[in-house]
Amino acid sequence: MSMDEVKSLRNEIREVTEEILRAIAKRNRLAERLGQLKSALGMEAVDLEAEAELRTHIAKTAQENGLDPEQAQRILSLLIQEAVKIQQPQKTSRITHMDIFRRAKQIEMSGEKVYHLEVGEPDFGAPTHVGETLSWAALNGYAAYGEAKGRPELRNAIKELLRERIGVDVSPEQIVVTPGGRFAVYLAAAATLRPGDQGVVIDPSWPLYKQVVEMMHSRTLKLHTTVEDGWRPRREDIERVLKQKPRTIFINYPNNPTGITLKPAEMSELVEEARRRDAYLVSDEVYMDYCFTEFTSALQSGYEKTIIINSFSKSWGMTGYRIGYLIASREVADRAARILSQLVTCVPEFIQMAAIKAVRDSETPKQYGDTMRRRLEMVCKELDKIGSNYVKPDGGMYVFPKIGDKGFDSAQFSLNLLERSRVAVAPGTAFGDYPEYIRISVGLGEEDLRRGLQILIENLQQSRG
Ligand code: PMP
Repeated sequence: MSMDEVKSLRNEIREVTEEILRAIAKRNRLAERLGQLKSALGMEAVDLEAEAELRTHIAKTAQENGLDPEQAQRILSLLIQEAVKIQQPQKTSRITHMDIFRRAKQIEMSGEKVYHLEVGEPDFGAPTHVGETLSWAALNGYAAYGEAKGRPELRNAIKELLRERIGVDVSPEQIVVTPGGRFAVYLAAAATLRPGDQGVVIDPSWPLYKQVVEMMHSRTLKLHTTVEDGWRPRREDIERVLKQKPRTIFINYPNNPTGITLKPAEMSELVEEARRRDAYLVSDEVYMDYCFTEFTSALQSGYEKTIIINSFSKSWGMTGYRIGYLIASREVADRAARILSQLVTCVPEFIQMAAIKAVRDSETPKQYGDTMRRRLEMVCKELDKIGSNYVKPDGGMYVFPKIGDKGFDSAQFSLNLLERSRVAVAPGTAFGDYPEYIRISVGLGEEDLRRGLQILIENLQQSRG
């Protein structure tokens, strides 16, 4: 043992690392050539069959070389991710719904009225008694550092709510109170995904799921659904994607942006597929109370790798309070709570006190849900008059109609609509590869909704000629 030996081993490691990098550079160049060829032949950049074949081969190579198979697969995922980036040309317009929202705000700043059919926020606000509890709690000592998972009485109240609402018993230790549903989605990703892992997202989808998968340096496997299939994932597509052994699957019913919900049998089928592949199933159920058929929770299937996301933003209109929650196995909840405590310590106690008041109010969610249903029915009636192609929502607060044929650019349409007629809508491209669609939100007062919709429909009729 000598310093010389240390030096020599370091040198050798350096050489091997250089060799790996040279090989990666070569792999990238090959991917580029392959991409050009695929594009000339009209082939898609992503070919899951070819990937599956490569994965099987790599598993064998890893075994032959005494390498941990999981480590080998994660390295392979990183390489594939890079190759896909090289091969996939930016297909859709770069304008997002956030650009539309920002531009709408600018226009408003100059004093003009804009009809906000693009927002993902209900206009109701929190009930007065919830606001009163918030200020009372802040003034009466509920303003100190607290437990990372949240106040036990809030978690108990959520536990009771779930028992009554969906007939499932969870332990308060499985519940983590989070600063909004958005943060709960982040925690679900952070607690389950590692670099090189894969996460499945069913498109069209709320953009955050893909964003958090990418934040974890994991790879998104997109499962495309169509209006023709009622936005339901096809069994063969689910199987094809799950064959890639993703670690986490994100689902969201009632859905943003399509408004569809799953029937109990469809939900248990999805859960069973996740169970068969031993994948985490993250079910975003923030629209639970905006559900116009019987609500089905993924929790009802009893699969222990299920992670539920929920929020006070929709059920009680508490968007600015920033409070939601996550439910998972004890192990995942502990992991999520640790991350939450490192980042924000806990959700402010006075907000949690207001949430306790909210949970015990079962009338407000019913009222809010009813209002959204009525508004959606009104929008659907208008869309029917012009023969629009869409699936009638049975939940949520959006409609996702097809407004153009192949080659249509809904992002450009949305921008023009805003500039010309002061109506803001979210382009379909924000939710996946859907340039022929727009999302109409009903999170605004009836009068403005009616007027905004009328202007939108006039524009649609003009654009059709
Ligand atoms: N999930 C979905 C599907 C949503 O549409 C939203 C809000 N747009 C959220 C979660 C998050 O809501 P919040 O962070 O306000 O709880």
